[in-house]
Amino acid sequence: MSNLKNKSASPHILPSLPYQDNALDPAISANTISFHYGKHHKGYVEKLNELVAGTQFAELSLEEIIIATSGKPSMATMVIFNNAAQTWNHTFYWSSLKPKGGGEPPAMLKQKIEAAFGTLDACKKELADAAMAQFGSGWVWLVLDGVTLKVVKTGNADLPLTNGMKPLLTIDVWEHAYYLDYQNRRADYVKAVLDELINWDFAAKNLG
Ligand code: FE
Repeated sequence: MSNLKNKSASPHILPSLPYQDNALDPAISANTISFHYGKHHKGYVEKLNELVAGTQFAELSLEEIIIATSGKPSMATMVIFNNAAQTWNHTFYWSSLKPKGGGEPPAMLKQKIEAAFGTLDACKKELADAAMAQFGSGWVWLVLDGVTLKVVKTGNADLPLTNGMKPLLTIDVWEHAYYLDYQNRRADYVKAVLDELINWDFAAKNLG
């Protein structure tokens, strides 16, 4: 899980985007990135720093905060979880995309995809179907669950990390991820991501 580690405690830092803000255009416009990264993601990081300052969570890494606050009934703890998880999810999402992505996964990943789903197209279809089935805001993930690849979806800020599954890649299906470019057409956004942007190399690296 070394790829998931962010050892530094607060203040948590908004990581640089792994590409220019117009590099995903036209599938995702620079305008969308400017709000999604520059306002939403940045906002989660700033809010998290504000919330953990002076608390028992101040010295914890991002992953430690997520694990410590997950599933707790207190509203204050839930708000910290939401901002920590959204900070983590967005960093993972930016790396799940790349300019001129899509295409064929590296051999080792492709083999695991074919073992789990039959074909790459079947895997992409399962990701797309899960994206459409997620009611309201959330995330779709390709995960390693034990030794098997699976597609899972999570609502709001939730993430597979807290269920012991290892995320390989994610697609943000909150409206803020696509509304400026696609309005209500979530399916078109997800298709563009899977065909043109998805970063199979990142997923392969996360297989470990
Ligand atoms: Fe988002």
